[in-house]
Amino acid sequence: MILLRHSQSLHHLFCHHLRSNYRFSCFVVVRFARKMSVSVKYTKLFYNNEWHEAKSGKTFETVNPADGTKLADICEADKADVDVAVELAKKAFQIGSAWRSIDASKKGMLLLKLADLFERDIEYMAELETADCGKLFQDSKDDIKFTAGVIRYYAGWCDKICGQNIPCDGDYFAVTKKQPVGVCAAITPWNYPIAMFTLKLAPILACGNVFIGKPAEQTPLTALYIAALCKEAGFPPGVVAILPGYGPTAGAALANNMDVNKITFTGSTEVGKLIMKASGDSNLKRVTLELGGKSPNIIFSDYDNLEYAASVAQEAAMTNMGQCCCAGTRTFVQEGIYDKFVEISKMLAETRTVGSPMNDDSQHGPQIDSEQKGKILDLIESGKKEGAKVVFGGKSMDQSGFWVEPTVFADVEDGMRIAKEEIFGPVQSIFKFKTLDEVVKRANDTQYGLGGAVFTKDIDKAYTVASSIDAGTVWINCYNAGEANTPFGGFKMSGIGREYGEESLNNYLETKTVILKVPQKIN
Ligand code: ADP
Repeated sequence: MILLRHSQSLHHLFCHHLRSNYRFSCFVVVRFARKMSVSVKYTKLFYNNEWHEAKSGKTFETVNPADGTKLADICEADKADVDVAVELAKKAFQIGSAWRSIDASKKGMLLLKLADLFERDIEYMAELETADCGKLFQDSKDDIKFTAGVIRYYAGWCDKICGQNIPCDGDYFAVTKKQPVGVCAAITPWNYPIAMFTLKLAPILACGNVFIGKPAEQTPLTALYIAALCKEAGFPPGVVAILPGYGPTAGAALANNMDVNKITFTGSTEVGKLIMKASGDSNLKRVTLELGGKSPNIIFSDYDNLEYAASVAQEAAMTNMGQCCCAGTRTFVQEGIYDKFVEISKMLAETRTVGSPMNDDSQHGPQIDSEQKGKILDLIESGKKEGAKVVFGGKSMDQSGFWVEPTVFADVEDGMRIAKEEIFGPVQSIFKFKTLDEVVKRANDTQYGLGGAVFTKDIDKAYTVASSIDAGTVWINCYNAGEANTPFGGFKMSGIGREYGEESLNNYLETKTVILKVPQKIN
């Protein structure tokens, strides 16, 4: 599944590179210098600008992946709560409601205020994010800074969403109006909880819609905190609802609801298909999907800075412990530099600092939960059995929480499971190739098409590969660079639609054509 490490700019990747060069630490010593403790302020469902118990009275636990301890009991939404929240959202969207009556520029001001609140509370939000999903604390802060920028970017769009003037033959005049779709639901994953949630919230509100979010059951805490910030920023009741709960209950209730006009989902390809089906079985709600990936990263032998390419390639695979939809998990290296590249990759993996995600110098933290950890270890074992060479790592780390060693495989063959299946863990697979034509064919031999990269000094090769890779984003001599204004999304089974940039607005707007009969001549 998911997710661009959009927040991790090239600069950020390079910082990791520097850290790995200058801060050597003994691998597998997991250090907990800073205590993981955070006070959880919000645990209830949020709708109509108020906090509510679940109708069923049920709660579920959210735990800290770094040590497996419980952080809080969270109210668990299901269909009954979804139905109430949708009714209130519909009301908030009615013509004449407070939200529909606010000027577009004022909507922009509300979003700008929200961005300021993100920055005001960055330390606390980052602690909450790291405690709930195990992301490195510095990465959580980077995500929040980046996300504040995304909110501001969409704030700027509020009063710039325009239709067209269309010349018609005869006595007619036509204009198009861009109107909000209505009740928009967002179902988000656990790997970039704040970033994914806000990436949907901001354009949905900028276009004048109302928002109902269901965060992943593993990571509800920061979404609930964002609810409180939306209220503080001044969004009217009903405009923002946040309903933590499970996928097959709360998520499916949103996907099947007859009054939800739009659903935007980031998660697994498997669940993406269920969302499409639910749309077809209910009201044909509009669907945007950002799904899995198995992105190729191609290093040609002419590239003149092998250390840099190897470092970026390893970050591409292991950023956020590999829990990234566009992770560059398939590293293709041209034969002339292959052995040297594998050697550098081994050295880089050896020097990754593994430790508490709260520590500033940690480069590698826990996986999200025991289920994902089990899935990753199963795939690692399959790689070993199928004959790939373990260059580094390859094992579980024996301690509380959900830890897997950063793992590098070399001599990986295209038919192996680790070459084909999305691992969503800290596993880099290195393949050898000879020619451009061969590598492009192999890179595209996947059902996915989210990202890809090429490292070369030859502009012709770079352009040819960038044009030939079937993926929504191709990076040249970098990986995971991206801004609020650069569209992101998938070809093939990696998704439908684009997020970020102007393109994201189209996900949340309907085009209305207004045709007027006008007299040709004024008497
Ligand atoms: P992962 O396998 O990585 O946890 P999922 O695709 O299962 O990814 O989860 C992403 C989001 O989709 C989560 O918010 C989850 O609760 C939700 N989800 C899971 N199953 C369903 C479903 N059947 N209908 C709607 N949402 C779902």
